[in-house]
Amino acid sequence: MNVLVVGNGAREHAICYKLSQSKRCEKIYCAKGNAGTSQLATNVDISVLDFEALAKFCKKNSIEFVVVGPEEPLAKGIVDYLNYAGILAFGPTKIASAIESSKIFCKNLCKKYSIPTAAYETFDNFDEAYRYIKKAIYPLVIKADGLAAGKGVAIANNEYEALAHLNDCFANKKFGEAGSRVVIEEFLDGEELSYMVFCDGKKFVPMVASQDHKRVFDNDLGPNTGGMGAYAKAPIVNAIQSKCDSLIEQTLDALKSEGIDYRGVLYAGLMVVDNKPYVLEYNCRFGDPETQVVLPLLKSDLLDIMLRCANGNLGDYKIEFEDKFCVSVVLASKGYPGPYEKDKPIYGLENVTDAIVFHAGTYKKDSKIYTNGGRVLNVVALDKDFKKAIEKAYKAIENIHFDGMHFRRDIGKKALKYF
Ligand code: ATP
Repeated sequence: MNVLVVGNGAREHAICYKLSQSKRCEKIYCAKGNAGTSQLATNVDISVLDFEALAKFCKKNSIEFVVVGPEEPLAKGIVDYLNYAGILAFGPTKIASAIESSKIFCKNLCKKYSIPTAAYETFDNFDEAYRYIKKAIYPLVIKADGLAAGKGVAIANNEYEALAHLNDCFANKKFGEAGSRVVIEEFLDGEELSYMVFCDGKKFVPMVASQDHKRVFDNDLGPNTGGMGAYAKAPIVNAIQSKCDSLIEQTLDALKSEGIDYRGVLYAGLMVVDNKPYVLEYNCRFGDPETQVVLPLLKSDLLDIMLRCANGNLGDYKIEFEDKFCVSVVLASKGYPGPYEKDKPIYGLENVTDAIVFHAGTYKKDSKIYTNGGRVLNVVALDKDFKKAIEKAYKAIENIHFDGMHFRRDIGKKALKYF
């Protein structure tokens, strides 16, 4: 079967990598892909939002199945469009994607069905939100309702910081339409956990739990990023696995009660407080960088699983993961997460052994690979021993270099206390 993967990050490289191991997978295409995906797939120069061109390309190249990576095309209805055009796709429909594309939808769903989440209020105008923050207890969290690429959330320690974010949402319109409504919620103090599951509309199967590192510098300092590294299986989950599963079950039941058939990956961003998970957010797709540490541990056939999800027949299909740990360190460009440098040649990739390198922002020109984004590479290592997996990832990084390259040196460190 020919498959098209939609997206161009390290997450999509990891998806291509795993799909390429499937017995059923003949040819992989990736739109638009990067230098890493080009080693496993044929890169296609079509925008992830040009549904018409993607559908035409599928028909022309006998592509029977499309796997969608990023949230934006999902939120804009790519799966509905492709299904209408007679092409099967992996991912939720537009209405089901609202669980990520509207934080208000997600919070109201949690409230209506008693799914544990931080207490909150919603606002669609500045004046009421301002009256609320004047009387609030700090810290509190202010979130733009719509998709804002991780930038729409602010943790406010006082009224002035809260006011600044409200101004960004309502007056400065920094997030466009996404900031025309906001959620203001209670600050939860705990440890974050990413819990992704495969869903077929009726059943779900959990993947190994993972943890991300959002801040740019060691010890969780500096501004937020798209993620500087991750690891799986996150040992914090061992004591609360069944609580995480019942939270997911409650959510899928809630969606069903609302008439929503959810298929694809459901990703719960959880905060664990006193051994109890609370929903911080739901994402309607694979996480990035979590996917880069979860999929290398998958033993079962990814294409099989995805087809079953899309067709609604996961049934009792056994999904197995390696009994190992996986650690990923992100190598970023100078300046990231602010304005960053590009077009720097990357050296030493050919010398990496005992690790997988998933590409994020890279391109190939005249057989050389160059940087092309803030997050450039994910260096991923596996081992039965958690500490050794960390060591292997950092050892592999010693081979790689590009001008201005920076990375965190403490990926996985916070999990060591569990061993
Ligand atoms: P991203 O795209 O980075 O996942 P997002 O914009 O979808 O983020 P959230 O995941 O809801 O938004 O929030 C971003 C981050 O803010 C969380 O990963 C967490 O660190 C912090 N955060 C969100 N809500 C809370 C809360 N109620 N209490 C404490 N921290 C929170």
